Amino acid sequence: MEIRTDEKIINYIKKKIKNSHNIVAVLGIEMLVEGGGCDLDSDSENYRVEEEYGFCPEDMLSTSFFNAKVEKFYRFYKKEILGMQQHSTAAYDALLKLQKQGKLSAVISQNFHGIPQGVHLSNVIELNGSINVNQCPHCDKDFNIQYIIDSRGIPHCDHCKVAIRPGIRLIGERVDSELMTQAAMACDAADVLLILGKNMYNDRLEYSSAPEHEQLKVLFSKNEFERNSKVDFIIRDDIYKFLPLIID
Ligand SMILES: [Zn+2]
Repeated sequence: MEIRTDEKIINYIKKKIKNSHNIVAVLGIEMLVEGGGCDLDSDSENYRVEEEYGFCPEDMLSTSFFNAKVEKFYRFYKKEILGMQQHSTAAYDALLKLQKQGKLSAVISQNFHGIPQGVHLSNVIELNGSINVNQCPHCDKDFNIQYIIDSRGIPHCDHCKVAIRPGIRLIGERVDSELMTQAAMACDAADVLLILGKNMYNDRLEYSSAPEHEQLKVLFSKNEFERNSKVDFIIRDDIYKFLPLIID
């Protein structure tokens, strides 16, 4: 198995994790992609989607698009977002191991696809909402994901007949402030912060204000141009290959 990261760095992070009591994992797009999902923010996907729908994913996932073109929104959303399948990976197994050891205090997901089925992580903060939460904006009735998938065209509340709102954070909306506070508190308290991939909203969360020497911050990024002076290491390897190496 090819690993680009220097062995000294691997051993250093491994030792920090071994001695840690409070690890927080922040899940990003790469976790979704490694589990079989796709990065709609990539150039090729942007191009493909724009060819098929006439708009790029970022436009279609915005509040203004949802309000103005709800039928088109759901055509895209059902096929491209709900149609995306994801499975567990060795990276999730490694996180479960940390959880069993009592070291993993929180998982902050920036993806709205939820944690893959069968992966039972506790204390998951879904910062950008979830495809599994769907609500009528009028009467607040909840609808499961199957109701959305099975609906023809726009999914309507069976009571009010208005379009159901998906529980994901649309682009242009703020992060729920209560969730943001929870996430920030968890990150601040961590002695190791694992940032597992990028945030599709590109809104560069600062993750943590903990003093540098008190917290090890490791960012996983495939973007060769990624520079981040706020983290201790940037790892270019696959997350599913790397995490098992640093977690005993
Ligand atoms: Zn309703």
